[in-house]
Amino acid sequence: MTTTDTGSSPAVFAEPTGTALSLLLLGQAADPRSERGVECPGDLPAPSDPDLVARALAAKEALGERVFILGHHYQRDEVVQFADVTGDSFKLARDAANRPDAEYIVFCGVHFMAESADILTADDQQVLLPDLAAGCSMADMATAEQVEQAWDVLEELGIAERVVPVSYMNSSADIKAFTGKHGGTICTSSNAERALTWAFEQGEQVLFLPDQHLGRNTAVRRLGLSLDDCVLYNPFKPMGGLTADQLRNAKMILWRGHCSVHGRFTKECVDEVRERIPGVNVLVHPECRYEVVESADYVGSTEYIIKTLDAAEPGSKWAVGTELNLVRRVANAHPDKEIVFLDKSVCYCSTMNRIDLPHLVWTLESLVAGKPVNRITVAPDTAALAQAALEQMLALP
Ligand code: SF4
Repeated sequence: MTTTDTGSSPAVFAEPTGTALSLLLLGQAADPRSERGVECPGDLPAPSDPDLVARALAAKEALGERVFILGHHYQRDEVVQFADVTGDSFKLARDAANRPDAEYIVFCGVHFMAESADILTADDQQVLLPDLAAGCSMADMATAEQVEQAWDVLEELGIAERVVPVSYMNSSADIKAFTGKHGGTICTSSNAERALTWAFEQGEQVLFLPDQHLGRNTAVRRLGLSLDDCVLYNPFKPMGGLTADQLRNAKMILWRGHCSVHGRFTKECVDEVRERIPGVNVLVHPECRYEVVESADYVGSTEYIIKTLDAAEPGSKWAVGTELNLVRRVANAHPDKEIVFLDKSVCYCSTMNRIDLPHLVWTLESLVAGKPVNRITVAPDTAALAQAALEQMLALP
């Protein structure tokens, strides 16, 4: 890990360069800050193999009830067709926990989701991620070392005991464990308002990790805080780039993390689609920037987006700001409604898309051969603390 010594202040982490980031997105090179692996060795079938669908079907049938395949909403159709259930990250982790008879859980999602499934399932169940390089750039934006260092800053200022950590589900097991260790809670995009309300009953300030946009949107739009009540903590700067007074006075200390997919939507996208499609309803995910969410008509989680579009009137028009695989799938399911993607350019989750049919076939056939690959395990002490934070979420009023 690269650190920069700043003298009297604690060392801060050097920000990754553009080159390093682009190599990571391509699944090459190595970065110890990533919550995932960056390479996925294995004897993968060729993507051009015309028998891939038949091979996946045969392997799934051979495994029967021993395997349970989870498909995140943002996965490719070629993978989702083999999923036993689809859903968002938390629903899928709970679905896995509700299948104690399944020996293997194949998680077609990203690394932090497989970790959550491992935490919530029994020790004798194995959770497999078909491609170890399928990570989440948002989860990678808050590492355990960075967050511990930020907590040290709050302790040195004498305010840590009044700060309650609230961490988005989209975070590594280490960050969930940090949250449990300090009496905080996990939240999803569906229950972030309830989580923040609870946190402000436990303390005076919230450290919100790692998605600044979900934190800000929820605090300002749902809890009635002002933008000035929120500060942005940059882990690459001493004291997060903030003054002691800014840290002491903030209600919300937002981690400087974001989703690289939802962060692409801009206010200009909303203005452009309203001009292009008169009468269009703009529906976005709360991981979008504040100004995008403010200019939208409807805001909600992936599950909310799906339900809203399912229930929409025939002939209604929708521009949707979330991952493209999902938007396309819902649009195909509702040809009687005009459902378009909010941005003009393509916007997949590149790491989520690393899981393709060859990786799924390889994983399933390895199980048939009795040689499981890409098992994701969380260390017991980390899992115990992370589970405490997850259970606190389940106990939210
Ligand atoms: S869509 Fe965003 S938050 Fe979800 S896995 Fe991809 S990068 Fe992470």
